[in-house]
Amino acid sequence: MNARQAGASSILGAHVGVLGAGQLGRMLGLAGRELGLQLTFLDPNAESPAGAIGELVVADYTDALALERLAAARVITFEFENVPVAAVRALEQKATVFPGSRALEVAQDRLSEKTCFRSLGIATPAFEAVNSWPELVAALGRVGMPAVLKTRRFGYDGKGQSVLRSEADARVAFERLGDAPLILEAFVPFERELSIIAVRSSLGEVACYPLVQNQHEGGILRKTLAPAPGVTVPLERAASQYIEKLLAHLDYVGVLALELFQVGEQLLANEIAPRVHNTGHWTIEGASTSQFENHLRAILGLPLGATDALSPCAMLNLIGDAPDPSAVLAVPDAHLHWYGKAPRPGRKVGHITVRAPDAETLARRVAELERIISSLPT
Ligand code: AMP
Repeated sequence: MNARQAGASSILGAHVGVLGAGQLGRMLGLAGRELGLQLTFLDPNAESPAGAIGELVVADYTDALALERLAAARVITFEFENVPVAAVRALEQKATVFPGSRALEVAQDRLSEKTCFRSLGIATPAFEAVNSWPELVAALGRVGMPAVLKTRRFGYDGKGQSVLRSEADARVAFERLGDAPLILEAFVPFERELSIIAVRSSLGEVACYPLVQNQHEGGILRKTLAPAPGVTVPLERAASQYIEKLLAHLDYVGVLALELFQVGEQLLANEIAPRVHNTGHWTIEGASTSQFENHLRAILGLPLGATDALSPCAMLNLIGDAPDPSAVLAVPDAHLHWYGKAPRPGRKVGHITVRAPDAETLARRVAELERIISSLPT
């Protein structure tokens, strides 16, 4: 057996550990099973969606015994962004973790994240750290109104933030959020929200998926159009340059997502997610290689797969409840993903990807799916 064959055979059946076992872990696991990998997930919730796909260790992320079990894997990754950095650092002493604790630490704090963007020349909305009422008043004086006040940590799906349009709003928001360290950002009158997903392998190979367009409601992602319609070559290039700078700076391995606001022909960075991302779910049916497979290829040092879109497509999140599967699947080229979670208001319980040969047909199919979904309680 030559060295190349030895490398290949050692990947076959390789054991991958994953911190977090939500729907992202489940889809990572499904891609991993195709590659013949064994997966062990760690999650405090015994009902986690990825438990149906691989071994599930139910314990806190800081549980020493559970981390020990995970450390036996060839490589460890995470699908949940709020895993304690200390747990990842502890694992790094014993095993290979991709992406590492550095990227996680930056992404967990909106201030470090935006400071990192700024240091790399990546444009962001104006921002200021806020730790007291006088600091908020002073920051508002510089940033102006409207502005967005956010907790620096543990904010997701629009939680932990308030738009400020008046001093009265500022008082109410500070009352609600002021116990935690905060960041004040200028409110961006964006034309649309975009995101880009890129992947870098442990061998340094990099690939970017096309820019996609995202629609949020109440801070929760509802719809992604992939590729984003009407993107100019300079805009696409600017987005890939931004994310490539981040990948290099963080010595990143795996899939990274960057959320952006488009204002005219300018892109402002909002946040990164150091993991597979909801705005990349379309890649399962819509791209040559899914973000989940590419993440696994990247962390295992395998060649990356092509990231081009196969046709115009859309991803619709299912929030709160299940639609009638027969109605969804009657729409041509629609694909239903159900995460096996108990329906609950505001909860992402599944998604639909729909493809079409052209933009007009896609718009018709999306409208039909939105009509089916709109009858559900969310
Ligand atoms: P985030 O948790 O930072 O991703 O924010 C959730 C959503 O709030 C974003 O997807 C935007 O729709 C909106 N948002 C966040 N920050 C800003 C901002 N600075 N200006 C305008 N809208 C924002």
